[in-house]
Amino acid sequence: MARYTDSVCKLCRRERQKLFLKGQKCYTEKCPIEKRNYPPGQHGVSRRSKISEYGIQLREKQKIKRIYGILETQFRNYFEKALKQKGKTGENLIKLLERRLDNVVYRIGFASSRKQARQLIKHGHILVNNKPVDIPSYLLKAGDSVQVREKSKKLDLIHNSLKRVKDNTYNWITVDKASLSGTFVQVPERADIPLEANEQLVVELYSK
Ligand code: SF4
Repeated sequence: MARYTDSVCKLCRRERQKLFLKGQKCYTEKCPIEKRNYPPGQHGVSRRSKISEYGIQLREKQKIKRIYGILETQFRNYFEKALKQKGKTGENLIKLLERRLDNVVYRIGFASSRKQARQLIKHGHILVNNKPVDIPSYLLKAGDSVQVREKSKKLDLIHNSLKRVKDNTYNWITVDKASLSGTFVQVPERADIPLEANEQLVVELYSK
């Protein structure tokens, strides 16, 4: 399946929700959804079509995939993995996605979007436990540390992104802005993850 190449802001408008896909722009008044919170297209404002149960489940799955920047096959693989774990499958799924290195680099604040985090990782700017890791889907374990490589510590992109980060935003991540490092302290509880999505609908969709 090809990567989506149209305006990512349209994806937010389709979901009528900020998905934070664009980086710094998402945190400013320039975010289009602040003014046009309706689906894109000619009939965006007036469209009132009834959505089926299947349609609602599908939209929720698409939304979660887009937030974390994951394609269908990989997302399905996460679901299968979540299914085999103890506990609620939906919560397991979100916890797995939260352990991805690109997500943690974004949450720490080295990047202003998950897409930007993926680029940082692929270009070799990020270390895990002091070793280079260039795989965005790498799954972190509790206690793993994430650092910016010494040579990359002057990157404006990282410093600009860190400006938006407040201390202790997430109770499962610590950030040391001075040394450009962070720790994935523990796998978060679903209730602590700021994700406006109903993962149970994905479970229902895949269980059909
Ligand atoms: Fe979504 Fe960010 Fe675009 Fe706003 S600026 S619509 S949050 S991608």
